[in-house]
Amino acid sequence: MEILLPKEISAVITALEEYGAEAYVVGGCVRDSLLEREINDWDVTTSASTEEMRRCFAGKKLIATGEKHGTMTLLSGEYAVEITTFRKDGSYSDGRHPDSVVFSDRLTDDLSRRDFTVNAMAYNPARGLTDRFSGREDLQNGIIRCVGDAQKRFNEDALRILRAFRFMSKLKNTEGKGFVIEDATLAAMESCKERISLLSVERVTAELAGIITAERAGETLALMKKTDILSQIPSFEACDAGIERIDKLPKELETRTAALFWSISAEQAKERLAALKFKNSEIKRIAAFLENGKTALTSDIELLELTAKMGAEDAFRLFELRRIFGDGCAEKSKQRLCRLLEEGRCFKTEQLAVNGKDMAELGFEGRAIGTVLGSLLREVMAGAENSRENLLQRAKQFKEEQ
Ligand code: ATP
Ligand code: MG
Repeated sequence: MEILLPKEISAVITALEEYGAEAYVVGGCVRDSLLEREINDWDVTTSASTEEMRRCFAGKKLIATGEKHGTMTLLSGEYAVEITTFRKDGSYSDGRHPDSVVFSDRLTDDLSRRDFTVNAMAYNPARGLTDRFSGREDLQNGIIRCVGDAQKRFNEDALRILRAFRFMSKLKNTEGKGFVIEDATLAAMESCKERISLLSVERVTAELAGIITAERAGETLALMKKTDILSQIPSFEACDAGIERIDKLPKELETRTAALFWSISAEQAKERLAALKFKNSEIKRIAAFLENGKTALTSDIELLELTAKMGAEDAFRLFELRRIFGDGCAEKSKQRLCRLLEEGRCFKTEQLAVNGKDMAELGFEGRAIGTVLGSLLREVMAGAENSRENLLQRAKQFKEEQ
């Protein structure tokens, strides 16, 4: 069994070994290499302390990113490699952070503190794969299973409950089969579910976003609902409108979240999303989908106004959302908007044959300029000719009517 390491990463391992320490790549990068997936980050685990790392990488770009936890980040070529001293976690009394970080000189301790068997493998080019918990077999069979006693592990850190779902949603084995959560692991997740309320909103939302945007979001969210774990996430109660249909949508957070929130109002959704600490730009976009979820969208002007409001790309996303929720006209509206855009129909003032300067020359001032351009745009969207001559004439008429 061989994992091909980028040369920058094997250089890190070699440097630590020449210094006299043990070093391995570990966790997600080993899992994803074996699954032949793209690797996000290369993480290294080592017997060296952070002080020893400093000496080993003297003169190199080494940043103390989490020294209390034994983590330093080395910038090596295009990679930012997290190097962490072997650890065994102390006890957890708050359900989310170990009370103390205990360093160790044994790789086995470090692998034992990791969440799932598939995430608890280490690899070193000379020593090969270290797989104390049969992670490779679970990987082949597509199984998510806790390292050690599941009940204890979820009691220590309830974020692992959501991580298990995230891995279920995103992983596939090399035969393309989705992962299942092993029975005892799932039972323990259910019995510890109330501890999710102890977690910080940011961490919960990050995992949730990972679940929603992955390959098997529909099945995963359905399982979260069935086990009553979804409802443990504050602000997410009854937000399951689109679970069965979500996989038909592009893997994109805002579109898919809008589907989940489809049955509540845009106003309500805004409050809940703010409580979940979604970014303002995300909240705005999701709310726009919901606000336009059921409005009439048949005439040219309605379609062009929609495009003016949310941009062409999001207008098309909206049609996808409306289609999966049974709007029989969505496909037709989509084709119609396509045609309008191909014809070069106007939907924003910048596309008009006149501009603000022209309006100022006609004697409009300040906000009146925007207002008159808006009126001209509406006329053009309704079919009036977008020529300089016509628009200047219409603007003059507006001025006279003022
Ligand atoms: P991803 O590709 O999504 O980043 P990952 O497995 O690399 O997946 P990370 O959150 O980057 O996930 O964590 C790196 C490794 O650290 C994991 O593979 C796992 O071994 C360990 N780990 C991370 N979070 C926890 C946790 N809450 N409890 C136990 N081990 C954890
Ligand atoms: Mg990672």
